[in-house]
Amino acid sequence: MGTKLKKDDLRIVVIGAGMAGILSGIKLREAGFSKITLYEKADRVGGTWRENTYPGLTCDVDSHSYTYTFEPNPEWSHRFPPGDEIQAYFEASTTKFGVDEMIRFNEEIVRCEHVEGRWRLEMKSGLRDEADIVIAATGVLHHPSMPEIEGLDDFEGASFHSARWDHDVPLDGQRVGIIGNGSTGVQIVSALASRAGALYHFQRTAQWIMASENPAYSEKEKAAFRADPDLMRNIKHAFDSGEGVAAFSEALTNADSPMMLEIEATVKANLEESVQDPELRERLRPDYRAACKRMIFSPDYYEAIQHENADLVTDPIARVEAKGVRLESGRLIELDVLALATGFKADRFMRPMELIGRAGVKLEEVWAKRPAAYLSISIPDFPNFFMLNGPNGPVGNFSLIDIAERQMAYISQLIDLVAEGRCSEVSASSEAMAQFDEERIGAAKNTIWASGCKSWYLDSEGIPASWPFSQKRFHDEMGQPRLEDYQLIA
Ligand code: NAP
Repeated sequence: MGTKLKKDDLRIVVIGAGMAGILSGIKLREAGFSKITLYEKADRVGGTWRENTYPGLTCDVDSHSYTYTFEPNPEWSHRFPPGDEIQAYFEASTTKFGVDEMIRFNEEIVRCEHVEGRWRLEMKSGLRDEADIVIAATGVLHHPSMPEIEGLDDFEGASFHSARWDHDVPLDGQRVGIIGNGSTGVQIVSALASRAGALYHFQRTAQWIMASENPAYSEKEKAAFRADPDLMRNIKHAFDSGEGVAAFSEALTNADSPMMLEIEATVKANLEESVQDPELRERLRPDYRAACKRMIFSPDYYEAIQHENADLVTDPIARVEAKGVRLESGRLIELDVLALATGFKADRFMRPMELIGRAGVKLEEVWAKRPAAYLSISIPDFPNFFMLNGPNGPVGNFSLIDIAERQMAYISQLIDLVAEGRCSEVSASSEAMAQFDEERIGAAKNTIWASGCKSWYLDSEGIPASWPFSQKRFHDEMGQPRLEDYQLIA
């Protein structure tokens, strides 16, 4: 059992210096903590925005919503922010709020064990540290998922995962293949259709696409934002809490709601109106419900795939060969470049880090069936260990910044219990965890994600892992912890 600690003495370690880790550093310092270290495995901040640099990289969440509440940015160039601007925004925020002096770069935490009331941390480099509180801000989608396609290593051209884009490889005028048509593949195709000599988009399952215009902000608009930051806050508020996201969240969690039917009608109309050739249109038509997979927002994918250089390939892939991709039909598509936009292992979270809680409880065993956390924040027997954007939280088409800010405000209240000496250890109780998980799984069955498609939202048993309740419930839950759901140890 640990001893009581004062705020000045509490040592807090944050794992990861992406969007959520930077936020943690800013908020902890603002709250008066001074012994804070962020361990970052890479040599730069930015997380997903550091790792993803593929052509066309854009966030499909409104720029002014994909922004920290306390750091509005009048300089966003477009309604939807390009990846390089987002990376620059996080780098600038890190410097402005003094987070860079808290970060230890090139340090990957490989082991984290709770011993005698404290967390003992081990880095890959051999470095060791201790902490009273640990916040895992390790992100969700960061372990690339390589497709199980025979012969990938035989390819003689350039091949890489979308999150490991090789910018030394020429694209203009080249024969480029892209496997995968999630949000990533669709953005790459849109960016490359007019650049590649020939572009082949390998589609295993069709996707519903919501049209979304992406206008540039004019200099006049940016000047207005600079003069009156409330204009940006209004856009953010409209996106996060207004009709848009609230109604979309209601639709996702109630597959038969009028809003979901409206969304379905909208994406069907987009397909009908945007694709001229009836044969291509049918190949692009999904046989499952809209938003079952993460909704794709794109201003230009249908236009790109109808470009004279572009070819939608729907015959299944048999294997990859030295010269290109062999289809089951026997056709060989010869390629210079093969990009794998095949997604991520969405159930990893802070793993492969070894996490050992109270009395030797191993995370790998607790999560053997599926990753789970009470309200996405805390795991029984892992005291003073909190997660941002952990399992079962809201993901999908929402601003993960808004979500992380609310989670951080909640976690801060739990940390204060320790800082103020009300307890030395806090973690969700086993009863609260079990009850939450039961209710969550029950509600997950009514969501659109469970309506009959495959996606990374589903766990190994086919149960949607994402927050299955309303957006309002998430906001209410994050307002204040229900302490009766926690085990507090003096
Ligand atoms: P994804 O949505 O998981 O899509 C992976 C794609 O690869 C699917 O089309 C899948 O086909 C295909 N695929 C996988 N293995 C294959 C195989 N062996 N043969 C053929 N096709 C195969 O991955 P993602 O597009 O990288 O997106 C992941 C998530 O990242 C998104 O859902 C989103 O949360 C985030 N993201 C966000 C943005 C943004 O703008 N905010 C942009 C990019 C990504 P099937 O459908 O048949 O499985």
